[in-house]
Amino acid sequence: MNIDRRTFGRAALGAATLLATGTNSYGTKAATLDATPPARLPAAHRFALGDFTITALSDGYLNLGLELFPAASPAVAESLLARAFLPSSIPTSVNAYLVTRGDRHVLVDTGTASAMGPTLGHLPEALAAAGVRREEIDAVIVTHLHPDHANGLIGVDGKAAFPASEIVVAGAEFGFWHDDGIVSRAPDQMKPYFEIARKSLAPYRGKIRQIVGEVEIAPGITAVPAPGHTPGHLALRIGAGNANMLLFTDVIHASALQFAHPEWAIAFDVDQAAAVTTRKKMLEMASADRLLVAGMHLPFPGVGHVTREDGAYGYIPMPWPAL
Ligand SMILES: [Zn+2]
Repeated sequence: MNIDRRTFGRAALGAATLLATGTNSYGTKAATLDATPPARLPAAHRFALGDFTITALSDGYLNLGLELFPAASPAVAESLLARAFLPSSIPTSVNAYLVTRGDRHVLVDTGTASAMGPTLGHLPEALAAAGVRREEIDAVIVTHLHPDHANGLIGVDGKAAFPASEIVVAGAEFGFWHDDGIVSRAPDQMKPYFEIARKSLAPYRGKIRQIVGEVEIAPGITAVPAPGHTPGHLALRIGAGNANMLLFTDVIHASALQFAHPEWAIAFDVDQAAAVTTRKKMLEMASADRLLVAGMHLPFPGVGHVTREDGAYGYIPMPWPAL
C-alpha cells in the first residue's frame, strides 16, 4: 500500500473538516434564520435505463470549504464558484442509487446515517418515498468505505440496516480499512474512519463478497476499479447496449471546480496523484464515448453528461423528465 505521510496527513485534515462541516453548516444556517426551517422533503428521482430502473436517492448535503482542495489556486477557484453562483463553502450533495431489474433491488452506497450531522442521513426517507423497504434490498454495493457511503449500513438499532442483503466491496478496500498495520501508522484524526469502516461491515459477517478487478457483480452491473480516492474505490458500469451509464462515484466532489481542473485533488483522497489520474481517465472516457454518468457528489440527482470543449471538461445535468 503506497501512502506517503504527507498525503495521509492531508487526508486526515480533510477528514476532520468533513466531520465538522456537517454540523457547522447547519449551525451557521440556524443562527441566521428566525423561523423554524420547513420540514425537509424526501428526495428521490427515478428513470429508466433499458430494462433497469435507476432511482437516485438523496442523503442530504454537506458544505465543502476551498481549503479541502490544496492544489487549487484560490483566485481561480473563487472565480469558478462565482461563475456557478456558489459560495466558497460549497453545498455538496451526497447521493446513493438504487438499481432495480425485475424484482431485484441493488443499492449502491447507503449514505451517512447519523455520522455527519442533521443535513445528512436522509436516505431512509428517500428509499421509503421510492416505495422500497430496506428488507427488500438484495445486495448493497459499497463503492468505498468512507462514512458518507458506508455508515448507512447500520440501522438506528445498531443492527444491519439491510438484513436480507449481501454486501459487495472491493477486496483492496476491505483490506485497507481492516489492516491493523495501516491503522497503527495513521494519524490520530484518521483513526475514527477505520473504526467507522469496520463497524459498518461488522453486522454483515459471512455475507460480504470481496471482488477483485473489473468483474460483473450482478447481471448488467460491472465493477470498474477507480483507485486513488481510496485504494479500492469502485466505479460501476450499469446497463447494456445503448442503455448504459457510468456511475463514477467519488471521481468528482465539487463539480464547479473539478471538471474545469481535474488536477485539483480533494484532501480526502488517500492517494491524491492516483485520484487525479483516475479522474482524468474517467472524464476522458465519459466525454469521448458520450456516456451518461452519475456521481455521489454531483448536484442531486447527480446524473448527466461530460463535455470536452477547448481542452476543458464540463458537465451538463440530465433534464428531470428523464430518458
Ligand atoms: Zn463521498
